[in-house]
Amino acid sequence: MRLVRNVAISKQLCINHSKKGLHVTDTLFQLPAIPVVPVLNENAGYPVGRIFCVGRNYAAHAAEMGVEVDREAPFYFTKSPANMVLSGAQVPYPQGTDNFHYEMELALAIGAPLFQATAEQARAAIYGFGCALDMTRRDLQIRERKKQRPWSLGKDVENGTVLAPLTRASDWAPSPERRIHLAVNGETRQDATLAELIWSLEEILCHLSHFYHLRPGDIILTGTPAGVGPVLPGDVIEGGLDGLQPISLRVNADTGTVQ
Ligand code: MN
Repeated sequence: MRLVRNVAISKQLCINHSKKGLHVTDTLFQLPAIPVVPVLNENAGYPVGRIFCVGRNYAAHAAEMGVEVDREAPFYFTKSPANMVLSGAQVPYPQGTDNFHYEMELALAIGAPLFQATAEQARAAIYGFGCALDMTRRDLQIRERKKQRPWSLGKDVENGTVLAPLTRASDWAPSPERRIHLAVNGETRQDATLAELIWSLEEILCHLSHFYHLRPGDIILTGTPAGVGPVLPGDVIEGGLDGLQPISLRVNADTGTVQ
């Protein structure tokens, strides 16, 4: 394997492994660059570090999934940034599913460190907002759920997180009357407002910041409203949230290769 010069080797790694024979100066290979999301009216993009997702944050969606909403605490799953694509992408129908679903969501992007936050600190730490798709292998997610196993195969799908360009928090507010909607091939499938969110954005950030040191680069998908459903090869998904940049995704035939 060809050695690749990597100037970004962390000091910590060098210190921990500085014994003879364990000193790291290069990496064996390079990983793909981290995803960067455009920001409206900004030259600099937003680099994506981690992606957290809130489960069941709209009552009507929880009902259609056959589960009851509780107000005990929000719950989360994560999706790998490496599996993220930008709005406008064309992606292959993923492997291992016969029921590939769209979920339209409001994404928020963190712009400042946040730990054990108050609501006020949480609000101030939001850099911006964007439309997102939480694409899901629903058959696998439900199978995992029934067996009380983690949702990784169902949720962390290659090319399965889609982000539209962000809008800065100074230019847009997530007011309750904002409409969140999604259409497949021009036919509306999801249509709700942010008033239906069970956990507010501040509540999510306060809660999540008791488990993670949230930081710039963290994206949080805040759940999907009712109306989720399958897509097939050839389908075009178009979503929107009043005042934000729209989102789209085309699902192509399965190419049998990882893109
Ligand atoms: Mn979701």
